[in-house]
Amino acid sequence: MQKKRLMIIGAGGVGNVAVRKSARMEELYEEILLASRTKAKCDAIAKEAGPVKVRTAQVDADNIDELANLISSFKADVVLNVALPYQDLSIMEACLRTGAHYVDTANYEPKDEAHFEYSHQWAYEERFQKAGLTALLGSGFDPGVTNVFTAYAEKHYFDEMHYLDIVDCNAGDHGKSFATNFNPEINIREITQNGRYFENGEWISTEPLEIHQSVDYPRVGAKESYLLFHEELESLVKHFPTLKRARFWMTFGQQYITFLRVLEEVGMTSIKPITFQGMEIQPLQFLKAVLPEPASLGANYQGQTSIGCQIRGVKDGKPRTVFIFNNCSHQLAYQDTKSQAVSYTTGVPAALGASLVARGIWSRSGVNNMEQFDPDPFLEELGPLGLPWEVVVDGKLAFGV
Ligand code: NDP
Repeated sequence: MQKKRLMIIGAGGVGNVAVRKSARMEELYEEILLASRTKAKCDAIAKEAGPVKVRTAQVDADNIDELANLISSFKADVVLNVALPYQDLSIMEACLRTGAHYVDTANYEPKDEAHFEYSHQWAYEERFQKAGLTALLGSGFDPGVTNVFTAYAEKHYFDEMHYLDIVDCNAGDHGKSFATNFNPEINIREITQNGRYFENGEWISTEPLEIHQSVDYPRVGAKESYLLFHEELESLVKHFPTLKRARFWMTFGQQYITFLRVLEEVGMTSIKPITFQGMEIQPLQFLKAVLPEPASLGANYQGQTSIGCQIRGVKDGKPRTVFIFNNCSHQLAYQDTKSQAVSYTTGVPAALGASLVARGIWSRSGVNNMEQFDPDPFLEELGPLGLPWEVVVDGKLAFGV
């Protein structure tokens, strides 16, 4: 097979991991281009990545012309977008203009409205189909691996799936009073929104962090977990219509929630612009500027993450429960890629998804969510790439139903 050319956009926590992992795929890639808003961050990552040669460039991914010029001058076969969800549509447009496949890890969100849904990107289906290009959406951990776990359960363990609970725990300690594990602006927008889950064909809304319960995570133990809306719920209930209920749960420590409430109450998490010393600023963007960068948390991070899918359904006329999960150590992630486990669990599947598209193993002209492809080749490579996973059938439930 002829070697491919990969362009990665975004040199943050996730970009760092995706570049280091992709640069070790020397049988697949001829060259990699890492482009981001701040070139110095690209250079710092490229210096330590290899053996595949990593070039760097400055780019504003909101500017379609600039982006398209860079993609075509590099002759990228695949573009991996690990910038921010705001850039998804401009990067998809640039891929269509230049004939490159597209991969991302988070669905599009307009800057001035904290609301994300797939409709904006699913609307590109026909244009990608006509161009003969594959767009792969949500190739991180959640969304990403959780979609593949669900597809794998459906393929190998169920005749019909009925109840899906995605459970996400970060039982790590970075030693800071308050920090977010991925981009603070995107993270805080996500968790200060209303919660939402799917039941009997309808979406049910809750107040932010209103519903919570204790979840027993493997090798971590019981942790209070909060119901949030998460984007993979939208595509999973579409692609697995037998699901009667689908929910997403995430752990937050008491200290994190207290800090967040104070920041919310004083107005620091607002996305409504205010005038400050004659300049228009968004309080949340200002807060992001003073919080630690997610990429900087790795060195002192202890503990592990545990993320999985608990699914109940029917096989051969009998009820069955399947729990598929991965635990990832912050320290092992740091040893492998100088990053903490949240960036690692996103960057590894991002690199893997891009490599499956580059090799044509996952290939369908149009816009695809992860669960639309065969889960087996992805899960065969996920463990060897650093994220081993386990399946428990009819075992102890992560939590009661
Ligand atoms: P960071 O903020 O650490 O990194 C984002 C990078 O994108 C930065 O280097 C930033 O540049 C760059 N960037 C921002 N805007 C532009 C632009 N207009 N043009 C070019 N580059 C730009 O975020 P993370 O690495 O933590 O997250 C990256 C993505 O991964 C996000 O979309 C996030 O939602 C997603 N994610 C997905 C997860 C999943 O499991 N599916 C989990 C965690 C994250 P600069 O350095 O100059 O600010």
